[in-house]
Amino acid sequence: MIVTLVGKSSKTLLKDFDAAGIEYETRPPQPGVIMNSGDAVKIAEVAISAATAVIVAWLKYAPTRKAMITTKDGTIWQAEGRSVAEVEQLLIGAKTIMVSDTKKLDLTSFGGFTIATSSDTEQDGIYGIAYCPICKQREESHDQGHGEQYAVNISLGKVRTHMRLVHKVKDEADA
Ligand SMILES: [Zn+2]
Repeated sequence: MIVTLVGKSSKTLLKDFDAAGIEYETRPPQPGVIMNSGDAVKIAEVAISAATAVIVAWLKYAPTRKAMITTKDGTIWQAEGRSVAEVEQLLIGAKTIMVSDTKKLDLTSFGGFTIATSSDTEQDGIYGIAYCPICKQREESHDQGHGEQYAVNISLGKVRTHMRLVHKVKDEADA
């Protein structure tokens, strides 16, 4: 199972995994992917049960923390507010779980896939972030003073272009 970490605050989950002795594999860099593709870790099937307890406890710690589970059939489930047993049931049949600790997390449908976008406020301004749902490539864009939604839209546009070019995804809008 792949755990994708959205926003720099979500990395605290890895510290909780470390504290609980849960092993995870950092994904190796993928050919052709240059930017920030390391924000995902892999957890072995045998560790899912222990990892679930950590994830549920992590979610309860702050209201900004969210987790979305994508099951093998592509259905997306929110993990917040569910019991450890319920989340474990979802994770056993899951492809990925995306955890975030950010104010803004939106989903946009594109060519049958779901693109997750968020934003991060850094010292030098606001960044919009979007993730390729297929290879998890991350695109970041500075808002250039135009605000959060502007930055998010630029990143979303980059991911759409990336999906068209790299994964040959076609959207209804392209027809
Ligand atoms: Zn991709």
